[in-house]
Amino acid sequence: MPHLYAIAIGSNRPHGRHGRPPQVVEAAIARLDGEFGLFDASPIVLNAAHGGAGRDFANTVALVESDLEPVEMLARLKAIEADFGRRRGRRWGPRVLDLDIALWSGGKFRSRQLTIPHPQLARRSFVLQPLAAIAPDWSLGPLAVRHLTGRLARKRPQG
Ligand code: ATP
Ligand code: CA
Ligand code: CA
Repeated sequence: MPHLYAIAIGSNRPHGRHGRPPQVVEAAIARLDGEFGLFDASPIVLNAAHGGAGRDFANTVALVESDLEPVEMLARLKAIEADFGRRRGRRWGPRVLDLDIALWSGGKFRSRQLTIPHPQLARRSFVLQPLAAIAPDWSLGPLAVRHLTGRLARKRPQG
């Protein structure tokens, strides 16, 4: 059985060819569709910059199917980021493309370079909201995505 991955996509810098952040995210979805089996992608949402990143973000979440194990998947995602012209730099700084593994069907995963579920998932409405639109019942232990989204919506907005 292939694995299912929920990939959080973000952009807050224009790309020379693809254009502004929403178009960069659109192009990233097409790229994920080409490299893996794309199940679904949430509508793209615009969000105010977080963590001092400067410009506004376009965000979404895509569900992809792949035989790759998590560490290999991360390497492929980093290669796509690089292909979109991302330079390694300040964390949370402006970036053309950020691809994070939010969840995978294998449950918890942890290595030196990778933690799944993404450690900030439960605190980030810009990931949870798109995720809730396409996978509300995906469970993280006793709670499902829709529970986490509901809980966060009742709190003060935060990064
Ligand atoms: P954040 O992780 O808070 O969203 P970021 O995406 O800006 O920050 P990056 O500079 O893109 O951070 O990545 C830093 C490192 O985080 C990556 O090189 C990767 O090894 C590690 N990492 C750990 N868990 C994950 C995950 N679930 N998805 C993607 N990267 C992860
Ligand atoms: Ca990120
Ligand atoms: Ca990242």
